[in-house]
Amino acid sequence: MRASRPDPSARRPEPCLPRKRPDPTAAFFAGVLLLGAAACGEGTSTGAVSPDRILHNGQVVTVDDDFSIAQAIAWRQGPNGSEIMRVGDEEEVLALAGPDTRVTDLEGRVVLPGLIDSHLHFSQLGIEAEFENDLRYAMSTGEIVQLVADLMERLDPEPGEWVTSRGWDEHKYERPFTRWQIDEHTPDNPVRLGRVYRGVAVNTAAFRLMGIDDSDSSTWPDWWLQDLDWFNYEDKVFREMRTLTVDGQTREVEVPTGMFLGNAVRLVTVNPSQRDYEARIRAIDYGSREMTRLGVTAIVDPGGGGQVMRAYQEARDRGMLHFRILQVYEGMFNTQSPEEIDAHFASLPFNNLGDRFLRWRGTKWQIDGGAGTRSSWVSQPFVNWETIEGEPNYGYHWVEDDLREAQLRPTVDRGWEPHIHSTGDLGMKQTVDVFAKLMDSIRAEDPDADLRWSVIHAYLPMEAETNMLDKMAEYGIIAAVNPSFIYHQGRSFSANLSPGRMARLKPLRSYLDAGVRIAVGSDYGTSPYSPWIGLFAMLTRTDLWGGEHGAEQTITLEEALRGMTIDNAYLTYSDDWTGSLEPGKVADLVVLDLGDVWELEREPDGILGMADRVLLTLVDGNPAFRRAGFEF
Ligand SMILES: [Zn+2]
Repeated sequence: MRASRPDPSARRPEPCLPRKRPDPTAAFFAGVLLLGAAACGEGTSTGAVSPDRILHNGQVVTVDDDFSIAQAIAWRQGPNGSEIMRVGDEEEVLALAGPDTRVTDLEGRVVLPGLIDSHLHFSQLGIEAEFENDLRYAMSTGEIVQLVADLMERLDPEPGEWVTSRGWDEHKYERPFTRWQIDEHTPDNPVRLGRVYRGVAVNTAAFRLMGIDDSDSSTWPDWWLQDLDWFNYEDKVFREMRTLTVDGQTREVEVPTGMFLGNAVRLVTVNPSQRDYEARIRAIDYGSREMTRLGVTAIVDPGGGGQVMRAYQEARDRGMLHFRILQVYEGMFNTQSPEEIDAHFASLPFNNLGDRFLRWRGTKWQIDGGAGTRSSWVSQPFVNWETIEGEPNYGYHWVEDDLREAQLRPTVDRGWEPHIHSTGDLGMKQTVDVFAKLMDSIRAEDPDADLRWSVIHAYLPMEAETNMLDKMAEYGIIAAVNPSFIYHQGRSFSANLSPGRMARLKPLRSYLDAGVRIAVGSDYGTSPYSPWIGLFAMLTRTDLWGGEHGAEQTITLEEALRGMTIDNAYLTYSDDWTGSLEPGKVADLVVLDLGDVWELEREPDGILGMADRVLLTLVDGNPAFRRAGFEF
């Protein structure tokens, strides 16, 4: 079998049913569904029937090939869901209206294609909202402690119940927070606070669960007072000198503060159990409402296996999934042998299983770590290694080139496209080189093979020793980037990279100039999920503290919007039916409280406020979000 083999799902006839459950709050929509079902079997000709809906007197940004701007758009529900009938000027679109067409005057407002996020660890989003406080915006130790205190008040947990949150980054505070500060508010509850990436902080109650007692040195593990032999680069246990009563005597002793980085996280052997199934379903309901509130109509969830998909399917069956999800399949492949991987994929169904609302497609892999934790695989060491590691730190990588090629072979031979987390330049180079080899062999048999493989994160493609911009362009390898890191982690990245490398980090201008397609995602989980932060970062290269990182790598509004819509549709093999507002495509769109889209480019500071100026988000022609007061 070869990657170019047609997808079985593409050959299956589309079932003659509406694809989305009616939203019980939209009485109007039930009528549309009936209409859609009644029309089933009558073909999809758009000429003979009137549209169900028209939006007019707006600035409709189509994101078609010419980036044309129209005034009006019309669609109807067809046998396969919504179908745009016409996008054009007032007269030509309004002329299509029939007696049952509902017409909405946009009063000059902007319409965009529904935004697509190419990288969002979605299943966590609603869990965080219900059970946690977001630590990503905390800029001081005091704020972190206050957020935990507020959470305790909100949840009022039973003694012994776990309390969790995530998103801290020690680079943002003058001093890292400690478990003793957290303990004041959580004396009887174990606490686990996740770092933005590869780190965790726990409190004293969590240590007690591990059997560790500050006052009894016989309970202290090997690593309590000093680092272990296997510690590497980023691995770290934060310690602080304390006056403690130990074994009945008062002592000055340097003990763990509860903060762990890198592989040292493994030393924390107690963890909260996963939230129960119902909580996870509720989280999907909340999370997909929240994303549509921001204008997002589809996401790629880069990772997870069958358990996550099962919850998505259940939520969908109950009408609690409000946008489109494509889940990229991920087992823990990074260290598995090619034989194990082959056996695993032999047991999986085909690539592209599912439909336009919920699909399984592609595989996710990882080669290295990240820049904020000094673990990207790089050809030039991270700065300040003299004082931090004591020897040049080139990050790490999971596997060598030959093994990676052998690991990918059984999956690409079954038609599953790979996407590989690669941040450092050597990590990217391995990924690009291995991709090129595999692509060559596939295209030797099938020159037209449609291979849309991506480098995820793709920080440093233009280092002197490893420049791979041209090779990525030649092979059509996509850079799946997360520009919001520049905004949100600018400070922790620049603590580890020289200003020169920082200015070349995620170099979108250079990618586009070289002919490399960019697919934009938030990487929520690590970064905040608002797509507007990514747009702001692409246009300004500015961080949360006002620092600027490589102004020459900014791109235009048009380029950025393509990266957030049609190019993400391309990445997911969906560009023939979504990603732009063109006849025949689905009516996934966003109406903004904005009179001129170019204002976002003229005054980019306003972009961050757009999260509160989404008026309407349609998924498949139906309102997934409508701001109170906006008539539709
Ligand atoms: Zn990620």
